Amino acid sequence: MQVLVVGAGVVGLAIARTAACRDHDVIVAEATDGIGNGISSRNSEVIHAGIYYPTGSLRARHSTRGRRMLYQFCAAHGVAHNKCGKLIVATDEAEFAKVETLLAQGRENGVEGLELIGGDAARALEAELNCIGALSSPESGIVDSHGYMLALWGDLEDRGGSIAFETPVERLSYSAPHWQVQFGGRDAGTAAFDAVVNSTGLGAQKLARRIEGYPAGMVPPLVLAKGNYFGFARRPVFSRLIYPTPVDGGLGVHVTLDLAGRMRFGPDVEWIDHESYTVDPRRAETFYQRIRTYWPGLPDGSLVPDYCGIRPKLTAPGEKPADFMIAAEPAHGMLRLVNLFGIESPGLTSSL
Ligand SMILES: Cc1cc2nc3c(=O)[nH]c(=O)nc-3n(C[C@H](O)[C@H](O)[C@H](O)COP(=O)(O)OP(=O)(O)OC[C@H]3O[C@@H](n4cnc5c(N)ncnc54)[C@H](O)[C@@H]3O)c2cc1C
Repeated sequence: MQVLVVGAGVVGLAIARTAACRDHDVIVAEATDGIGNGISSRNSEVIHAGIYYPTGSLRARHSTRGRRMLYQFCAAHGVAHNKCGKLIVATDEAEFAKVETLLAQGRENGVEGLELIGGDAARALEAELNCIGALSSPESGIVDSHGYMLALWGDLEDRGGSIAFETPVERLSYSAPHWQVQFGGRDAGTAAFDAVVNSTGLGAQKLARRIEGYPAGMVPPLVLAKGNYFGFARRPVFSRLIYPTPVDGGLGVHVTLDLAGRMRFGPDVEWIDHESYTVDPRRAETFYQRIRTYWPGLPDGSLVPDYCGIRPKLTAPGEKPADFMIAAEPAHGMLRLVNLFGIESPGLTSSL
């Protein structure tokens, strides 16, 4: 088939590569001038084990399987990564109960190696921690997400696929047996494809509304939840990912590490109504408070505003978190069309 994947984020690239590896002719249309310019360059770069999500959900299934595939892919393609492990820490009895629930959820999801450890055992691993116990997840890790996307792009091109940059898709209509696709930008015009995948992250709902005849009731709401990060301007003190227990809308302000071992904190959850990428320095106050529950030694003046990313959520604050929504023909009745909605965390882990 002639396949069009719209969006060159990590998910679009992974889909395009897989289609090309199965001998389809693949074009990726990307609105900007490079790969990974959307959500994919604004995340924690964590390879999630697959602990948090309801068993059987797409998020649980794709993150556990995707994680195993991602480690293999990174090893085979020389993509920098580190299976550094993670601790989800409990600072009081109520949090310990939550951590126990997470252990049961993770085991049910088939996550390997999970173990509850006491406060002393946690401090033997990470001396600066304040906690009464922790869930240890040895399968969690970090990845150079840009290196990973470059490797996906390389595989795609090796199989004859290509990416058209500065080529936003503006409209789609089905006229048997093809999808007629209208492009804007550098090479504005129309072209025909057998199959189309809408993998445009924050743009997915807007594009779905521009598909002629697509049922309006099948376009879910887009709810924006910004996640802000603060960098740590001192020598790192942790060598594993350190997470508190999850909060509404996110996994809690955690310690993430990059491959050079530098520490940063985030993301928090800021519900917003339009896209904006500035980090308000005043949010540092809440970061200090939250981080000091599990790391009392966080020095004053050590946090500096860093970057932020926006989660494309499908549910509002307080509502039960939505699953990934992969809407194909059985859902909407249109041939060889797939719309991806709500691909927030763990979308990087799940991409393959
Ligand atoms: C704060 C934060 C932290 C996260 N942390 C993690 C983590 O640690 N681990 C993890 O597994 N996941 C994490 N995620 C989730 C992960 O980053 C996303 O699920 C993933 O990057 C989504 O990729 P995507 O390809 O769907 O979207 P994007 O990367 O946004 O790609 C979509 C692309 O489509 C393009 N586009 C939009 N409209 C059009 C159009 N009409 N025509 C052509 N192109 C178009 C955009 O320019 C963009 O390049 C995090 C997300 C956030 C926000």
